[in-house]
Amino acid sequence: MALSVRRQGGVVVEYSGEGVVLDPTSEELPYPSIVTHAHSDHASAFRFPALHKYSTPQTYRLLERLGWRRAGGWHPVSIGERFRVGDMEIRTHNAGHILGSITVEITSPEGTVLYTGDFNVEESYTMEPARPVSCDILVIETTFGSPAFSFPKRNEVAIEMVEWAVLDVIPRGRVPVFKTDSLGNAQEIISIFNRLTKLPVVASPTVARASDVYREYGHRLDYIEADSKEGRELLESGRCVYVTPKGSRPSGRRLEPSLASGWAALFRGRGRSFALSDHTDFKGLLSFIKGCSPRRVLTFHGGPITKRFTEYLRRRLGLDAKPLTNMEETISGTVLGGEGRLKACRSQLLSLIRIPGFTYSMPWLMKEMARRGFTRKETEEAMRRLVEEGILEPEGSEMKLAEPGGQ
Ligand SMILES: [Zn+2]
Ligand SMILES: [Zn+2]
Repeated sequence: MALSVRRQGGVVVEYSGEGVVLDPTSEELPYPSIVTHAHSDHASAFRFPALHKYSTPQTYRLLERLGWRRAGGWHPVSIGERFRVGDMEIRTHNAGHILGSITVEITSPEGTVLYTGDFNVEESYTMEPARPVSCDILVIETTFGSPAFSFPKRNEVAIEMVEWAVLDVIPRGRVPVFKTDSLGNAQEIISIFNRLTKLPVVASPTVARASDVYREYGHRLDYIEADSKEGRELLESGRCVYVTPKGSRPSGRRLEPSLASGWAALFRGRGRSFALSDHTDFKGLLSFIKGCSPRRVLTFHGGPITKRFTEYLRRRLGLDAKPLTNMEETISGTVLGGEGRLKACRSQLLSLIRIPGFTYSMPWLMKEMARRGFTRKETEEAMRRLVEEGILEPEGSEMKLAEPGGQ
């Protein structure tokens, strides 16, 4: 059976009857799963106790400190380590994104897949850059896959932040506030102020918890928790900077908020913002792709951007590129016939029939599946198999998810 990649509750890589799921978002497949980093949109596997999960110890520890329920079946893998699943050899590499983040290289006798998770090729104050890995199929995130995203050099962003805080906000008797991702960017900002200034950094409780884990793994970060007596006094005195999550609404009349995010590249002029990102920008994506010299490029993350990005790769660089969907992709191309279509049909069906206890009418299902490009015959065959496997269950003329353990 060919080496293949598709989306099904995560990114599924299969070879010769075995498989792994990268950053799964459901527990529908029984394969071992690999969690690339502790951001919540990648770490859902830890919500499913039954899944076997591989992650770095840093990722596990971050999730633990951020209050994720301890979920069983965890195997630590360190950065650079290899392990086997069937005839596939899995190797992890530094992704340069946040503490403990990895890219995943999967080698089969037929060829190699590289899955980037979220990554950054630029060196930052807290992370070493990700390096390209030569591969046949590159599955790459394209969060910032548009020429509109060209991030300034890290030290320029750092100086811009420090100048704003030290020369503008504090002299006016106010407290500079950086609203940002509490995991990744927040530690970068703490590190920037620690290295370039003598100003104390006050961290919101969430930011402090994530930063504690960075410290456990040897990062030198100095900060005071906002809820402590010292933290409150500093915020009152005005001689500090304050780092807090993006969605938070810190109160205090002296606070002067700014936003630190890759998306700031788009908001120029609308309030104070800094283009600080733990993802790579457009140019970084292109240089990483060239460095991997893949035969095929499959993209994920980024919504409408991914489509234009793959168009760019095809037209300008002559690469075989497309967004990754639930269609099965191999080194030689998309599997269009037979089993490939059935698998795609099956995962579409499961994305429609997804609320436990709900029944779905056949005419509606057929109509929705037709809209997604599947024939009646294909839908019926996929349904028949799902019923046979005990995943779906007919009820009268309707279809529903089978109840676990029930008939
Ligand atoms: Zn991330
Ligand atoms: Zn992500």
